[in-house]
Amino acid sequence: MNQLLARHALLPDGWARDVHITWDEQGTLTQVRADAATAGVPVAEYVLPGMVNLHSHAFQRALGGLAERAGLGPDSFWTWRDLMYRFAATITPGQIEAIAAQLFVECLRHGYTSLCEFHYIQRDPAGGTYARPAEMAERVAAAAGSTGIGLTLLPVLYSHAGFGAQPLLPKQQRFRTGVDDVLQIVAALEPLRCGQLEVGAAPHSLRAAGIEQIRALVNGLPPGRPLHIHIAEQQGEVDQSIAWSGQRPVEYLLANIDIDARWCLVHATHLTGTETACLAASGAVAGLCPTTEANLGDGLFPLAPYIAAGGAFGIGTDSHVSQSPVEELRWLEYGQRLAGQRRNVAASAAVPDVAQFLWQGALRGGAQAAGRPVGALAVGKRADLLVLDATHVNLDGVDAADVMGRFLFAGNDNLVKDVLAGGQWVVRDGVHIVQNIIASRYTLALHQLREVSR
Ligand SMILES: [Zn+2]
Repeated sequence: MNQLLARHALLPDGWARDVHITWDEQGTLTQVRADAATAGVPVAEYVLPGMVNLHSHAFQRALGGLAERAGLGPDSFWTWRDLMYRFAATITPGQIEAIAAQLFVECLRHGYTSLCEFHYIQRDPAGGTYARPAEMAERVAAAAGSTGIGLTLLPVLYSHAGFGAQPLLPKQQRFRTGVDDVLQIVAALEPLRCGQLEVGAAPHSLRAAGIEQIRALVNGLPPGRPLHIHIAEQQGEVDQSIAWSGQRPVEYLLANIDIDARWCLVHATHLTGTETACLAASGAVAGLCPTTEANLGDGLFPLAPYIAAGGAFGIGTDSHVSQSPVEELRWLEYGQRLAGQRRNVAASAAVPDVAQFLWQGALRGGAQAAGRPVGALAVGKRADLLVLDATHVNLDGVDAADVMGRFLFAGNDNLVKDVLAGGQWVVRDGVHIVQNIIASRYTLALHQLREVSR
């Protein structure tokens, strides 16, 4: 029988003692019962729900650390994007699968059990269609299957180079899709849908997709599927939007599309007070990627007023300069402390523990953005959980009430010991069950790609 007794488990209402957790062969939780007197069951000390990574471009894992040299002029998001384009120009289906698998192993080892892939390399290097139109997306799905991580695949609508339907540049031809192309890829991916895999769609941004196209995509997608979009990440993008439409990106999107709980607005960095309140009221999730946003010099999301307005949020690793939810959530909070010259920003009267507030908030928003039954230890949800290393000096003997603070805000050791994803133990004692073979495939892919980074 698939079961575990957690001496302390983080349930939706907070910490509970002696929680008997069971799950079925399909990877669904069948019982989560506190104060259980159960003998003969494997015991773990501290158990958390696995985190959702709501924003990933898997192939960008290969770029990490390669764009950190100063150029002649001021560096920005746009200089990083040139390097990304050079990688994207040559990457093969086999290479994207190898890179994605390595990323997924790293994410699992650090506590992400679900991931949303914002997938925009659809075409072959010449800009043609693969014999299987969903070839590249299927490779990402295969990588997820080989590692055990839950996946939400979001094929991207990418038609233009800038506001006002500017024609794509030659280096963007591998990303080129119209609404029909995206819906064709979504249809091709339908047979892969299961407890561990959902399919939605993503207009890349207001730069790359027109408002009529976005409406057509929403209408063409099966109902209830997740929809993600990059928005207002860069001040330059905000300026271009105002010059083109007279409105800021989030203002324009909210005015022209029925934004609701199906949507995840990724970054949403540059918001006015009105936009912040309206986004929170829409029910959509703000998809925050603090380490990537810091790396690219994007700016800081107005977290405090957004939380005060009841806004939903989650975290993503985006460009994968980090694969750790600890670092992502730590910097989400630290950015606010630095900007506001205050402490303990992400909290509420009901949940004053900042680390618990961040973890549970990111679980709720992440689950909503993933469109999968994840993000909580509760019957009917996926069996995704983390066992922390109770023997580590930072956790040994601490009260359950202090575990999340120790986990998120003390040191840099990875305290995730065992990981259950979709009912499978994929990480034991910090080691992923197939990490060596996946690492060797990744290294080979990187050797092949190395020349384009020079
Ligand atoms: Zn992104």
